[in-house]
Amino acid sequence: MSAPHLTPVETQMPDLEGLLMAQKKACAADPMPDRATRIRRLDKLHNAILDNRARIVAACNKDFSNRAGAETELAEIMPVLDGIAYYRKRLRKLMKPQRRHAPLTVMPARVEVRYQPVGVVGIVVPWNFPFFLGLSPLVGALAAGNRVMIKTSEFAPASGALMKEIMAGIYAENEVTVVTGGVEVATEFTKLPFDHLVFTGSTQVGKIVMKAASDNLTPVTLELGGKSPAIIHDNFPLDEAASRIGFGKGFNAGQICVSPDYVLCPRDKVNAFATEFSDAMKKAYPSLRENPDYTAIITERQKTRLEGYLEDAAEKGAEIITINPKGESFDGTRKMPLTVVLGADDSMLLMQEEIFGPILPVVPYDTMEDAIAYVNERPRPLALYYFDWDKGRADDVLARTHSGGACVNDTVTHVGVDDIPFGGIGPSGMGHYHGEEGFRTFSKAKGVVRKGKFNATALVAPPWGNFMYKQLMMLQKFRFRRRKIK
Ligand code: NAD
Repeated sequence: MSAPHLTPVETQMPDLEGLLMAQKKACAADPMPDRATRIRRLDKLHNAILDNRARIVAACNKDFSNRAGAETELAEIMPVLDGIAYYRKRLRKLMKPQRRHAPLTVMPARVEVRYQPVGVVGIVVPWNFPFFLGLSPLVGALAAGNRVMIKTSEFAPASGALMKEIMAGIYAENEVTVVTGGVEVATEFTKLPFDHLVFTGSTQVGKIVMKAASDNLTPVTLELGGKSPAIIHDNFPLDEAASRIGFGKGFNAGQICVSPDYVLCPRDKVNAFATEFSDAMKKAYPSLRENPDYTAIITERQKTRLEGYLEDAAEKGAEIITINPKGESFDGTRKMPLTVVLGADDSMLLMQEEIFGPILPVVPYDTMEDAIAYVNERPRPLALYYFDWDKGRADDVLARTHSGGACVNDTVTHVGVDDIPFGGIGPSGMGHYHGEEGFRTFSKAKGVVRKGKFNATALVAPPWGNFMYKQLMMLQKFRFRRRKIK
């Protein structure tokens, strides 16, 4: 593994408790920031991203040794700006208390839900989208009126350092602060008594983080990984499926939590799909080694892990189809060609673990029932992709499978849609952010009953058996007399 270059400052443990206490104190002084304050905070981020656009692209490029500039624009910059615009536009409505129904026993009263900032939100970021996965939850947390501490990934040190510099330039330390460092810092960070903790990373570390948070009863949003399937219906054109799946697999060289992990393909079309996929990828990436459009693997250790999956699969009898249009060598680089694997089975590592790289096993199925059963017998994935022009059949698959999110006839793009929640289920995560759900995640929904001068409760108070209490009971009996549920 190429060790991240830590500066002396980064090797020191930051004063995490001090930072948290300062933020908590600031929250106490301004527990319910008004809309203008929240918008001001979002605007600062918007402007800083525009000012640092080229530096963000350069930092990602440095961390990956080669990261396609367009991928950084599309996946790190644009969705954050969109997220800011989304909340700017809807903040008034989202912040507004919601009027709710008052039951007979409470009337007359005004009943409402108020959305209050939870306080300080901790955000732990992985390396694969080192800006988006820190800034996107940050936007939701700031919109909801919170203060935020971010821990960046040690495997994307240039991005982490830039994020720290940008945030320090626009926010006070008690508003938003960024800490960098390795597992030791991450471990201490996740033990802090945050008011909410968002962790994005592997399922394995997610379990450790949830245990640490449980000591403080800190609520967690866990954005984890898993094996996201792509199911191709027999009637769907294979060239279309290949290019749409290829977009999600080639982007960031498959290092995306929602990258299509494997394909379920009608048995008699597996070879044809492999050919279509290879053709589509050769068109998208006519060369690889020096092609800036094709992103490299983040570390040597990750590349070795992926190569190990291929060796293991080959040893156990799988067919490995390497898509290397120019027959280039990748020695001395962290690039790795896209590879299709046929004949993969559950004995192979690449069918047991999340792939998280440019490898695509194609698994044959005989009937759609078999394909659905295959998905349902395995841990619930973060995403599911279904390819079929028939809306009724697609709805049926969506209803009969569980996944964090889904696309019909597409891959990965649901993550960039602000107005829908993003999050996993079971081993792929819990909780949501983005959109209204994100605002609610970072808010305490406080139920409030407000009574006026007339206090009806006093009329039914003890001593029990009083006139009003008896009237109330009669009324209840009358209301529900025909309503026994059979
Ligand atoms: P990781 O779990 O190794 O690390 C993620 C973060 O956790 C890093 O900041 C790291 O410093 C920290 N960390 C590591 N060990 C820790 C510990 N013991 N206690 C507390 N924190 C610790 O994940 P990664 O390799 O950076 O990212 C890849 C994984 O993330 C994949 O599984 C991928 O699917 C998942 N992911 C999920 C999403 C999503 O939105 N659901 C997005 C991107 C990546």
